[in-house]
Amino acid sequence: MTIEESPSSSSVTPLPAEAFAELYARIDGVVTTPGDATWDAARQAWNLSADQQPEAVVAPRTAEDVQVVIGFAEANRLRVVAQSTGHLAAPLGDLSGSILLRTAALSGIDVDSDALTVRVGAGVLWGDVTAALAEHGLMALAGSSPDVGVAGYLLGGGLSWFARSRGLATSHVTAIEVVAGDGRMLRAAADEESELFWALRGGGGNYGVVTAITMRVFAVRDAYAGMLLFPLERADEVLTAWESWARDADEAATTSIRLLRLPPLPELPEFLRGQRFIGIDGAIAVAQGAGAAAERVAAAVATLAPLRELGPMIDSFELMPAGRLGEVHMDPPGPVPGVGDGANLDELPRAAIERILELAGPDADSPLLAVEIRQIGGALAVPAADGGAVDSMPGRFLLYAVGIAPTPEVAAMVKSATTAVLDATRDWHSGVDYINFRESQVAPERLYPAATLTRLRAAKKQYDPADRIRSAHPIL
Ligand SMILES: Cc1cc2nc3c(=O)[nH]c(=O)nc-3n(C[C@H](O)[C@H](O)[C@H](O)COP(=O)(O)OP(=O)(O)OC[C@H]3O[C@@H](n4cnc5c(N)ncnc54)[C@H](O)[C@@H]3O)c2cc1C
Repeated sequence: MTIEESPSSSSVTPLPAEAFAELYARIDGVVTTPGDATWDAARQAWNLSADQQPEAVVAPRTAEDVQVVIGFAEANRLRVVAQSTGHLAAPLGDLSGSILLRTAALSGIDVDSDALTVRVGAGVLWGDVTAALAEHGLMALAGSSPDVGVAGYLLGGGLSWFARSRGLATSHVTAIEVVAGDGRMLRAAADEESELFWALRGGGGNYGVVTAITMRVFAVRDAYAGMLLFPLERADEVLTAWESWARDADEAATTSIRLLRLPPLPELPEFLRGQRFIGIDGAIAVAQGAGAAAERVAAAVATLAPLRELGPMIDSFELMPAGRLGEVHMDPPGPVPGVGDGANLDELPRAAIERILELAGPDADSPLLAVEIRQIGGALAVPAADGGAVDSMPGRFLLYAVGIAPTPEVAAMVKSATTAVLDATRDWHSGVDYINFRESQVAPERLYPAATLTRLRAAKKQYDPADRIRSAHPIL
């Protein structure tokens, strides 16, 4: 079948449950279908706002299982969607006509402390990798949230607290094991299936179902990390000062600033519950080695000083073990219903700050939990040597707006608020955005430069000619 003839959701007649029973008999993993008692739990994404209604949910245990599922999908004109957590479930749509392949059982974390690499199964979460590496005095380029999946994060790029000194996490991937959309079980690396290796590193889940990933790790035990918290009433002053600091700050620092309206949730510490803040958090890399802590953090303390001089009400920056960096950003520890979206910004001039404050500052009546701006640039701006399809990140800032959306009505209200933030800053948008922060369906031209997109599409024809694999951000 060609890409033009690929199955669309409208052309698919639901398969009888017996067909999936036959699939179940052929694999080690678990198949769940709409009549099953566990159906709602099986189809549920991390983002509870996503109402995923696939034809079946399969939890494979092995790469061989994945191969069987892809063959079954081909025989029955279905598509396959891989998902480790469902953090990026929102742009996928309702998943009719697709088998949802949940990868949690593709586990395993193998640390090679001599080669300084780790091989992880595609269903592994960042928190588990970080903890396993910490036991060896090692660190990988994890993002802010421990319960984000390694696979989706790395296939999209991967922005860690070391991003401005070490670049995108995906540029440190050394091998990817995958069952391609055409059913072949492949290993992609610099010297094997090199075009697929290039495409997977940034091309998202468009090429197949990844079963394991190997990446470089670093002998980094700790960093100077934490949060500075100010009342939201000081948003203008603090955002203005941070923008001017962030533009020229040392590349050792990767930070984020957020205008926060926290819900009155019992799981939050009392002083945060229901309160409004502007917070700066992140990490500053420090010298590793045997020196005294005060000496090792001296440069980081100097880097942070201009922000500290603003006089935060809370200052938690300290020398922190790498294994605890997942606590810094206080991301939700489990599934939540959310609507969010983001865009890369070339600059954050006074006019942009004013527009953001109008929508989310202290005088705004905003339904948004957070309007966040991450500091990018530094090593992120430089294409990585031998990098993949996403080997750098445009712009100096990465904007992301998000709100909690427990009902469809609230979701619609939050959606219009996130759109308003993106629209208000449109004059400063970079040419392309970071795919992992785009949580709405966007044209692929917004995610990749033209030459990259042409090459990604050629690789798609080579490895998934029937467009069997459905991804959060399709490139066709
Ligand atoms: C609270 C929160 C914090 C975040 N923090 C950061 C951060 O600090 N830095 C950052 O860079 N990003 C961050 N993100 C964005 C995050 O990287 C993306 O949402 C990412 O896609 C999540 O990966 P996942 O595997 O958990 O999600 P999933 O929704 O499971 O996967 C996302 C997509 O990846 C593809 N995919 C997943 N697994 C496979 C597989 N085995 N084979 C093939 N394709 C696959 C699929 O297309 C899937 O739709 C954050 C998101 C949230 C919600």
